[in-house]
Amino acid sequence: GVIALDDRERIVLANPAAGQLLGFDPADAIERPLLEVTRNRPVLEALAFSKGASSQYMEVELDDDQNRVIGVNATLLSSEPSTRCILVLHDLTELRRLETLRQEFVANVSHELKTPLSSIKAYAETLLNGAINDGENNRRFVAEIDEQAERLYELILDLLSIARIESGQQSFDISAVSLVDAIDACISGNKAAADAKEISLAAQGAPVDLLVSADDEGLRQILNNLVDNAIKYTPHYGRVTVNFHVDGSAAVIEVRDTGPGIAAEFLPRVFERFYRVDKARSRELGGTGLGLSIVKHLAQAFAGNVDVVSEIGEGATFTVRLPLA
Ligand code: ADP
Repeated sequence: GVIALDDRERIVLANPAAGQLLGFDPADAIERPLLEVTRNRPVLEALAFSKGASSQYMEVELDDDQNRVIGVNATLLSSEPSTRCILVLHDLTELRRLETLRQEFVANVSHELKTPLSSIKAYAETLLNGAINDGENNRRFVAEIDEQAERLYELILDLLSIARIESGQQSFDISAVSLVDAIDACISGNKAAADAKEISLAAQGAPVDLLVSADDEGLRQILNNLVDNAIKYTPHYGRVTVNFHVDGSAAVIEVRDTGPGIAAEFLPRVFERFYRVDKARSRELGGTGLGLSIVKHLAQAFAGNVDVVSEIGEGATFTVRLPLA
């Protein structure tokens, strides 16, 4: 946005972007004082602040309901009698939001890495301090180190997946992929985990194959993360089913379980990075809190989406839609 003011702070020129940022009609603003046109106190303060210097830059948070942040560049023009000051406004809201997200992400990653590492360090120190000769506990301590190292490994694999997804479309090889093959591979890959809990795991109602437009490995990761969660959170003797059908130009894949379900209040958040309904339970089950955010980003990278429907005690159904090839 650009606004030019005269020596009495009346508007000489305002472009549409400035009007949009500060909520006024530029055509109606000419020759009116800025103070009258916008009640945005922070901007007026920035202007006042800029007096006395030839050029000033300030970031201000607007008083509006969206808490927008704008950068205000105020330049005083001494050689120009009719225009005394030019304000250039940049909307920085999205930039600041992304910066905050990035900071939160780094803080979360550091925390998640630190927890298993601290355990590994503590067990290793205990072993070095003599427990290595303690026949009753030494194997248990080494097993703990192994388990925590596995957690670190899973976390790093998930972080690498996120990095790959974020690096954009070019990192995928999108082609026509057989859904039946991907589902079969997912079911055989997860069979041992399901058997261990006597959970029945099956694909249902798949009369013909469908070809979807996706990256083969990415599609397998989507299915795998959803089925892995379904088995993880479903108690013994439960049921996990994967089925698919066509809806218009999309293939709809549903992963349904008979587990504890997710309360309505948490549903909108489960696709966020590191979000877990029950942190301790997720960790105990070897979760990283990244699985569903990876599913969401992969589905979006393939021009599809993912959604969840659930009720407490009624299991959960995750639905992925992908374009047919
Ligand atoms: P995690 O590694 O913790 O499983 P995810 O991103 O895969 O991370 O899932 C986020 C959270 O969503 C989980 O911690 C869990 O609380 C909830 N969740 C995911 N899938 C299911 C499911 N099938 N049944 C119940 N809760 C689930």
